[in-house]
Amino acid sequence: MKFETKAIRTQTERSQHNEHSTPIFATSSYVFDDAEHMRALFANELEGNIYSRFTNPSVREFETKMAALEGGEDCIATATGMAAIFATFASLLSSGDHLLMSRAVFGSTFKINSDYLAKWGIAYDYVDPLDVNQWAALVRPETKLLYLETPSNPGLDIIDLDLASDFCKTHNILLVVDNCFATPYLQQPLIHGADISIHSATKYIDGQGRVMGGAIISSSSIIEKIQPFMKNAGPSLSPFNAWVLSKSLETLAVRMDRHCSNAMEVAKWLEDQKSVSAVKYPFLPSNGGYQIAKQQMKAGGGMISFELKGGLEAGRRLIDDRKMISLSANLGDTRTIITHPASSTHSKISAQERAAAGISDGLIRLSVGLEHIDDIINDLNI
Ligand SMILES: *Cc1c(COP(=O)(O)O)cnc(C)c1O
Repeated sequence: MKFETKAIRTQTERSQHNEHSTPIFATSSYVFDDAEHMRALFANELEGNIYSRFTNPSVREFETKMAALEGGEDCIATATGMAAIFATFASLLSSGDHLLMSRAVFGSTFKINSDYLAKWGIAYDYVDPLDVNQWAALVRPETKLLYLETPSNPGLDIIDLDLASDFCKTHNILLVVDNCFATPYLQQPLIHGADISIHSATKYIDGQGRVMGGAIISSSSIIEKIQPFMKNAGPSLSPFNAWVLSKSLETLAVRMDRHCSNAMEVAKWLEDQKSVSAVKYPFLPSNGGYQIAKQQMKAGGGMISFELKGGLEAGRRLIDDRKMISLSANLGDTRTIITHPASSTHSKISAQERAAAGISDGLIRLSVGLEHIDDIINDLNI
């Protein structure tokens, strides 16, 4: 089956009610037939549901679908994207280990390193995502994984996944990719040799700004290593959110097609504006990562970042002049959203770290929505 079909036809088995669309399994626990059934389930001799912190049919439908769409063997759904990242690190890293992380990652991801991994004796180094020589200089015998985002938030750097996976294979380390900006429709890191693909499902997978969620997709053997953390620490996805996310996946392909075509038009228009000094969009030929983006992505996605000649002041004016576009911290919504990373999502990291991640004070991030393209451009008073 093709992507669009899998996104629609991967479904939990129908109940005796013959429902066409999967209902929500809003239950915290399940009943056992008898003492022996209960014993066998707890002993893992039988497959079945015990408690919704462990498994739930609504959550399982979402997980099965995500694994199919990413080309992975299995998936674990989590309460948020950050829970997916934290569960991966907590399960796969031990005291004494070391990890390499791209400097261009989501703001809260930095905080996991500095505030938690460090106190548990796990070392880390940030690397320039575009300089493999630097990765090679910093890799150590204790290095366990390389963590990247491509396209990155908010700078939209494009990292060559084939190159990164060759590097990781050579050094026998795991490649973990945050695939949030691209979605499995535009990019499948596992197909390019990554070991783990991570999502904030809060963004394009929901796509309508309603629920939070996350997902970890990998081989069955790696997922098995993360499952005990999920069961015991409990950052599980709620059945309601899983149901919303599984329904949303049915329309992911058509939504992404429009996000991409709208964003491409806005990016070209921005490039023509005199007051704009730089535009970053993966599929603009002027973009440094254009050739690689073309190799590993189906289209450029819905995110654009740009720089105004007037710097911070001009950015504030643009934000305050808008009538329709939302000023919000989310992205990947039907509604176009504008943000200023230096004073919002990346405000808790130092100015130095921001500069190293390519986030200047005048950088504006635009999540291009599904409104009519004319209305989006009309609202950008540049
Ligand atoms: C939003 C985001 C996250 C975190 O996801 P939450 O669902 O907000 O916890 C991680 N990575 C990227 C690239 C994001 O945009």
